[in-house]
Amino acid sequence: MTHLDGNVLAGPLSELFNADMTEAVGRCLGCGDESALALAMVYPDEMGFVARCRQCGEVLLTIVHGPGDVRVEMRGIGVLKVPE
Ligand SMILES: [Zn+2]
Repeated sequence: MTHLDGNVLAGPLSELFNADMTEAVGRCLGCGDESALALAMVYPDEMGFVARCRQCGEVLLTIVHGPGDVRVEMRGIGVLKVPE
């Protein structure tokens, strides 16, 4: 099966991150809670942010400022629903 290179993601990803991500709903892999990212418990530190589930405290995502980029790791989110 043929595949496309990553450039094809530019359009969809720009739409994704132009959305108001605080309205996006994530499902916690720890407890299954589904709630808007705006409701997550966010812990800022000198490197960036850690967002934790408001129900069970599991890490949902981390945003870290690296040298020359921003790194978003969504380790605890099974499904992210972004409003259109
Ligand atoms: Zn949870």
